[in-house]
Amino acid sequence: MSTMQTDVKKATTLKIEAIAALRTKIRGDIIQPGDPQYEQARKVYNAMIDKRPILIVRPVDVADISSAIGFGHEQGLDVAVRGGAHNGPGFGTVEGGLVIDLSRLRGIRVDPDAKTVRVEGGALWGDVDHATYPFGLAVPAGFLSTTGVGGLTLGGGSGYLSRRYGLTIDNLLSVDMVLADGCFVTADKEHNEDLFWAVRGGGGNFGIVTSFLFRANPVSSVYGGPMFWPMEEASEMLHYWQDLIMKAPEELYGFFGLGAVPPAPPFPEKYHGQNMGYIQWCYTGPLEKAEQIFKPIREHRTPAIDFAGPITMPAINSMFDGLYPAGLQWYWQADFFRHYDDAAIDELINAGKKMPTVFSNIHLYPINGAAGRVGPHDTAWAYRDANFSQVIVAVDPDPANNERITRWAKETWSALHPSSAGGAYLNFKMDEGEATVKAGLGENYIRLAQIKAKYDPSNFFHINQNIRPKA
Ligand SMILES: Cc1cc2nc3c(=O)[nH]c(=O)nc-3n(C[C@H](O)[C@H](O)[C@H](O)COP(=O)(O)OP(=O)(O)OC[C@H]3O[C@@H](n4cnc5c(N)ncnc54)[C@H](O)[C@@H]3O)c2cc1C
Repeated sequence: MSTMQTDVKKATTLKIEAIAALRTKIRGDIIQPGDPQYEQARKVYNAMIDKRPILIVRPVDVADISSAIGFGHEQGLDVAVRGGAHNGPGFGTVEGGLVIDLSRLRGIRVDPDAKTVRVEGGALWGDVDHATYPFGLAVPAGFLSTTGVGGLTLGGGSGYLSRRYGLTIDNLLSVDMVLADGCFVTADKEHNEDLFWAVRGGGGNFGIVTSFLFRANPVSSVYGGPMFWPMEEASEMLHYWQDLIMKAPEELYGFFGLGAVPPAPPFPEKYHGQNMGYIQWCYTGPLEKAEQIFKPIREHRTPAIDFAGPITMPAINSMFDGLYPAGLQWYWQADFFRHYDDAAIDELINAGKKMPTVFSNIHLYPINGAAGRVGPHDTAWAYRDANFSQVIVAVDPDPANNERITRWAKETWSALHPSSAGGAYLNFKMDEGEATVKAGLGENYIRLAQIKAKYDPSNFFHINQNIRPKA
């Protein structure tokens, strides 16, 4: 019997009256194995994840979400919630269970006077950028426009604006949510304050966020883009960058990367596929000052490739989209760092020289500045004293390379982990279980487990970086 026939049989045992009854309650889509859209609908961004849910519901409103949650309880199904489907371990899907896919909930409303933006739970960051840019506003987000607002925000969210305006959660003002019992609540500083604290870093453990209200900041055009240096200069540039970014004005953001020059225009052909060190810049200060800011950097060591210049915020936020389309194989590893000593820098350069594929890279994201000024217990994100969030991504289109790329990422992580701060940003981790979740949330884990016990005592929302309820 083929996989598809098995699914159809499972769904048949589940459905008939139950699914017919669900259809009377849901205005959105209900997709089952065997339906023409099923094969596409079950896919997530990371093609290393290949799961076959028994049912996919795409709600169009809060009532649909509440009914889908009720159906999950009634049928005893494992339930995965999907925002933008970008999650590395593929928490946006589940084998044999129910997927609540929020992709039809992408409405956005900007309030230019209040400088806020309300974003529905299934929106992507490109949707937000598109809506806020005409008003000269931006919400701190990540480095791709195709990432979901839901998963990125609930995990914390670091990106180009972190040093200036904080993490994404530091700009979150309020959430509307449907809880595990189907109830609808608002959480902010005045209402359900414990829940509001928990969703700012605790992931999708506490319920389904139907809409986020963010503060939007005055950012429109910036000065940014990559500068590359040959591998022989990468170690020296990494030392230079670390010193610079620890002292630089908060308008200046630049993450350090190790990886191959993409083998395509506009990159000069002689560098195609060559492993190099690079800094991806984003300066949000006055544009007329930008050349002056970058002059000493360019003079320190002339970059081999220099694409930094004036660019709009939506353009820089989507600069990597084309390099990383959905459907590649991804293995992630990560850690927070307070400082890179000489030995750690040597390990990084070593790993950079052994980069397994042109798609793979190591990125060191600064999280000092405004993100570091928030207290470690003010939100669920515990590592406010770390200065860098490091990610090691092993990526390739060909599944035949999975073992090789995964081995490189694991070996690199093992060599660097002893000099890390101890835990990692959980949005950059695979599904490694409780010890990793505890390490990532640090001292805040105990309070998070108590809040989980209050809002989701049966651990209904467990397809995630799971916090087990503990009163
Ligand atoms: C190419 C790439 C680049 C990235 N760059 C960055 C970056 O620059 N900065 C950064 O901080 N992170 C970055 N990430 C990591 C990203 O934050 C996580 O992968 C995140 O989980 C993606 O969210 P999503 O909604 O797209 O994912 P999904 O797979 O849809 O969901 C991830 C998790 O969030 C939960 N969830 C999603 N939406 C909701 C909701 N509305 N309510 C409740 N739970 C929800 C899901 O249940 C799941 O547990 C990147 C990821 C990729 C693949």
